[in-house]
Amino acid sequence: MPNVTISTDARPRLVTTAIELRDAVAAARADGKTIGLAPTMGALHGGHLSLVRASLAQCDYTIVTIFVNPTQFGPHEDLGEYPRTLETDLDALSQCGVDLVFAPTNDGIYPKGFSTYVDPPRVAEALEGQCRRGHFRGVTTVVLKLFNLAQADVAFFGQKDYQQSLVIRWMVQDLDFPIEVRVCPTVREPDGLAMSSRNRYLSQPEREQALTLWRSLKLAVELFAQGESDAERITARMRELFEQTNINRVDYVALADPETLQPVHQIQASTVALVAAYVGDTRLIDNCRIGNDE
Ligand code: AMP
Repeated sequence: MPNVTISTDARPRLVTTAIELRDAVAAARADGKTIGLAPTMGALHGGHLSLVRASLAQCDYTIVTIFVNPTQFGPHEDLGEYPRTLETDLDALSQCGVDLVFAPTNDGIYPKGFSTYVDPPRVAEALEGQCRRGHFRGVTTVVLKLFNLAQADVAFFGQKDYQQSLVIRWMVQDLDFPIEVRVCPTVREPDGLAMSSRNRYLSQPEREQALTLWRSLKLAVELFAQGESDAERITARMRELFEQTNINRVDYVALADPETLQPVHQIQASTVALVAAYVGDTRLIDNCRIGNDE
């Protein structure tokens, strides 16, 4: 018998230009398909794939964008080192059955002379907005461009980037953009560490230390369940965990209103706990709702 290998994992179609993307979208629309969009910066992991699966389940045609967006990185951040793994990403997406991958070039998104930016909503000002000046301006600008190009019905984002999901929701509402934003739960490693493309920067000892973020969030949930509602006392206990594990660069440990991200003094079931810290040179973020343990 001839040695025949049958592959069921077809690679998704890859396009790199706006024209190709628009043509593919027009064809899908002409077929009456609903379109789902999952914007990513690549180096795909289970968190990204959960957005893709949500889109595949809810829409007829799923587009994944892969673009390491330079305008959302600060001058001293990791833009140069950020992992770029397009081939592996396409393999991972083959197993899901994605329809189209859009991986534009920098010049494709920001051609010579580009100078129009989207001023992010108020909810961008706190937390990440304080620590990463200009970050959300880059996010809103690229996401609005991707929305314009993909003309999707639904866009999928992760709760892992809680503030980002609020920023996008407000942008869509304030600018009347005709797209539905869905936020998918944070996907974690078996020990609780939130999946992140940046986890691959961590050495083995740092990987252990990184668990502190999740442990601090769980501590907040536990303390609330035990009847503690004073935000200052809870954040003090959370900060102790960071000290105990020698994580010295903590950008914030916050208990905030889930819609405005303003700090709360007395916490409630809806309060969101958010943390950001450097483990070695790697900046990690995580969050969880106090009342519902995801
Ligand atoms: P990024 O590639 O980091 O820009 O992330 C692209 C999208 O994937 C964003 O909507 C993120 O919130 C989402 N995402 C990243 N990590 C996770 C995770 N662990 N669980 C769920 N969604 C995630």
